[in-house]
Amino acid sequence: MTPTTHLNIEKIRADFPILQTTVYGRPLVYLDNGATTQKPRQVTEAISNYYDTYNANVHRGVHYLSQVATDAQEAARSKIARFINAKHDYEVIFTRGTTESVNLVAYSFCKQYLKAGDEVLISGMEHHSNLVPWQIACEDHGATLKVIPIDDKGELILEDLDQLLTARTRIVALTWVSNSLGTVNPVAEIITRAHARNIPVLLDAAQAIQHTHVDVQALDVDFLVFSGHKIYGPTGIGVLYGKEALLNAIPPYQGGGSMIKSVSFEKTTYADLPFKFEAGTPDVAGIIGLGAAIDYVNEIGLDNIIAAEHDLMTYAQQALSGIKGLRFIGDATHKAGTLSFLIDQVHPFDIGELLDKQGIAVRTGHHCCQPVMEHFHIPGTVRASFSFYNNKEDIDRLVAGVEKAAQMFV
Ligand code: PMP
Repeated sequence: MTPTTHLNIEKIRADFPILQTTVYGRPLVYLDNGATTQKPRQVTEAISNYYDTYNANVHRGVHYLSQVATDAQEAARSKIARFINAKHDYEVIFTRGTTESVNLVAYSFCKQYLKAGDEVLISGMEHHSNLVPWQIACEDHGATLKVIPIDDKGELILEDLDQLLTARTRIVALTWVSNSLGTVNPVAEIITRAHARNIPVLLDAAQAIQHTHVDVQALDVDFLVFSGHKIYGPTGIGVLYGKEALLNAIPPYQGGGSMIKSVSFEKTTYADLPFKFEAGTPDVAGIIGLGAAIDYVNEIGLDNIIAAEHDLMTYAQQALSGIKGLRFIGDATHKAGTLSFLIDQVHPFDIGELLDKQGIAVRTGHHCCQPVMEHFHIPGTVRASFSFYNNKEDIDRLVAGVEKAAQMFV
């Protein structure tokens, strides 16, 4: 592997205490970053510092701690807004994660705009989180869910796009990077083509936010969603970015405290953005932790991260392709973060279990993408997903483990 990055990986690994863990007596090899990333000390310390020194509810108390907590929460919102280049901080809404962000838009946008006979367009490689909420919304409103098909390389078939974008299409909801195949979709082109017909686009950036530069204004994307835990932040916190005009045009998702201007039994008026969509006490610790994660990524440098991960993917792809009987599932020209593969007829679960016994964490199964597995007529895949804190030894151990599985089962 010829490194194109000058990151000091060993120094970085020291920021992640969990990477020193042993599993069944072997040093952990963590290659399940697509499911969730590990957390650097800087993130866990920011969270415990909040609980230990300024724990209070936000936007409510006049007292000192409440103001410190509110400032910290809003500082995190600003960091995230800058990270994705949102025009306004209040276009960043905190949710529990990608799933809740998609559900929010599928509920609120569709309540406002989806009528019987209308259509929602998704793709054939969506995570269930960006499929089921739209299916529910279509059922509720008498609309039809349409799908951009995928080919055997695991890429979208865009020749069909102009037929799929019709006068009845109300929204396009699409993943930027596929969690099951690693495919990076040409989202800028799709947004341009949808906008040419005045159709808004939601991007699921759950697998993009940690591997690529996200600039919502340059993309002109209407909604963008991601989870904190996939970008070194805590679980239970996520983001919905939405353009101000659209967020103002759609109704709230949940009612409760904090999202109101005034309440009477006759009528409630809603708070301004972002609070209209943030009913109840937010996950203050999670938001502060996510802010610390963004600081961490900025400090390492996203360009360095992208280069390191590119090196790892290239090295892993080359090494794995030498294994007899191994085939990659998804052979897209542009991939990020993830390699999915199978060995002859061996069930992916058997490979995963054998790797686990050697201390190597990968994910096996359908990865919440059953339609993708149906397309390839397979029960699932073995998925190795990478982060910049992985090193060459991690890949060498993965390759040795997969080789062993190939010898045992084939
Ligand atoms: N979309 C994609 C592409 C994902 O990879 C994931 C998580 N695997 C999700 C949505 C759902 O994310 P969460 O479970 O954090 O809500």
